[in-house]
Amino acid sequence: MKLLPKDVYRELADALGEENISQEPAVLDGYAWQPAMNLTNQKWIPRPAAVILPATTEEVQTIVRICNQRQVKFKAHSTGWAAWGGPSQEGELQIDLRRMNRILELDEKNKFAVVEPYVCCGQLQSEAMKKGLTCHIIGAGPNTSALASATSAWGYGGTGLSTGYSGRNVLGVEWVLPDGEVLQLGSPGSHAGWFSGDGPGPGLRGIMRGFSGTQGSLGVFTKCAVKLFPWYGPPQPRVEGILLDVETDVPETEKMFFVVAPSFKKYADISYEIGNAEIAYWFCRSPLNAGVDLFMPRAGDRLFESKPLRALLKAFQHLGVALLSSPSKREVEYQEKVLRKITVEHGCILLDLSKAPGYGFWWWLMGVRSIPTALTFRAGGDFLTSYGSPVEYDNAIRQAEVAQECKQKYIDQGYFKDDMSDIGWGGIYEGTANWGHCETAAMFDRRDGQAEGRFKYLEDSARTTIEHTLGLGLSNLPPGAWKVYGPQLHNYHLWEARIKKAFDPNSVGDEQWYVPSIDEIEPKESSSDEQ
Ligand SMILES: Cc1cc2nc3c(=O)[nH]c(=O)nc-3n(C[C@H](O)[C@H](O)[C@H](O)COP(=O)(O)OP(=O)(O)OC[C@H]3O[C@@H](n4cnc5c(N)ncnc54)[C@H](O)[C@@H]3O)c2cc1C
Repeated sequence: MKLLPKDVYRELADALGEENISQEPAVLDGYAWQPAMNLTNQKWIPRPAAVILPATTEEVQTIVRICNQRQVKFKAHSTGWAAWGGPSQEGELQIDLRRMNRILELDEKNKFAVVEPYVCCGQLQSEAMKKGLTCHIIGAGPNTSALASATSAWGYGGTGLSTGYSGRNVLGVEWVLPDGEVLQLGSPGSHAGWFSGDGPGPGLRGIMRGFSGTQGSLGVFTKCAVKLFPWYGPPQPRVEGILLDVETDVPETEKMFFVVAPSFKKYADISYEIGNAEIAYWFCRSPLNAGVDLFMPRAGDRLFESKPLRALLKAFQHLGVALLSSPSKREVEYQEKVLRKITVEHGCILLDLSKAPGYGFWWWLMGVRSIPTALTFRAGGDFLTSYGSPVEYDNAIRQAEVAQECKQKYIDQGYFKDDMSDIGWGGIYEGTANWGHCETAAMFDRRDGQAEGRFKYLEDSARTTIEHTLGLGLSNLPPGAWKVYGPQLHNYHLWEARIKKAFDPNSVGDEQWYVPSIDEIEPKESSSDEQ
């Protein structure tokens, strides 16, 4: 086990206080336990050499400067839910931002909030609801950091139709660069408040995060502003029980439906129609077999063994969940009328969930808190995800179709649990914008030691993505995927590698989930650059 050199540890402890740094083996093991997206056969990710807990931007700067002087690599995380939040090799410093946990501003009039890294979406949403507002919650759920997905990592969520994508919702940002300097992006850069992410200060959103984020490879984000959206429910909903035992009351201005389409194509068609009609708060594809596997994994195993029951579930393959939400009962009735018209015209089935038992549970769990996708651990113990690029919606749905075929081969070989293959999850985003995403998760038991087979699946999903021109999606997740995708997509990885070199000249930010410096990828090019 590699620890920090004693003098480096001492310097950090003197700067932040003995109580805010640790190299206790049991504490460090807690950080190395990251089964999600640990795509290897190893049980643990590399153990950090120490963990440090800053409370202010200045403390983050101090840490980063010491790392530069002492050539220590670091990785910051917010709530730290998956392997990409931890070190990729021994000897690195884990920066845990849990002490930076304040909502600094909630601007009701201009609909945005300024948050620190450890503010989770559930916390922000609860405070926003009191002011008639809500926030975008990614599919990973309300326990995740609002800042992490805005600045550093993807941003898909079930309410994308009305609350967008995290990369588009981020406004002003405070960023400790990998050399320790602070950069403020957008309006805070001109001391003009936090309302804008691009100008009048420098607009570097593309460099900061682009589509997928740099996963902690380019410094540490210490504050950011995120957009808020109207909330028509009660300011403090009555909620009893937790998670799958929740009970609550659904306001009469909200209504939920299952919409079942007869084919992939029809599903895409109705999604466009719903977006263009400017109805619904949430419309997201969730095949019924996926729901069974997530909510009742053991029952699912039995059901999937039975041919007639498989056929029955297959009939509900193209299922989407629609939540209508509006300021008045009259408006929600209008939205329902439009939804009924669209579904009838396209030969779909509409199931009114307000008549179903546990209606409040579904509304709260799915429509408000976005909890279900995080249940993907239940079926096999672990999961990975693939395809899911942000594109026009019929292309997104095409990805589910291609994924279904590709994944089935790996289910047949025993690399993934049988879940009937198509569990393509994702919706249409930003109303009339007509773009969307549909990703395909695959569940497995990581104790089986078959990581190589799953890597092959990811490679195959990358290959079919390119063959069918499906766009850059989540199949580019695994470290090093830029080697496959980069040459196919205008060598984007070389631009990222140049950014890495310019922003992080000492390569102290762990780059495993991004790209290495251009010096490592193309040594010749960088030496000719310098001449
Ligand atoms: C079960 C599950 C479901 C998921 N579903 C979705 C989904 O539907 N949509 C989606 O977009 N994502 C999804 N993800 C991905 C994941 O949600 C994102 O990584 C998300 O941002 C996690 O939030 P977090 O607070 O745990 O972030 P962390 O794990 O803390 O961080 C995520 C990444 O950002 C970096 N980072 C975090 N904070 C900072 C900071 N302040 N400065 C610099 N770097 C930082 C970390 O190093 C890490 O690489 C899912 C993940 C899991 C495990």
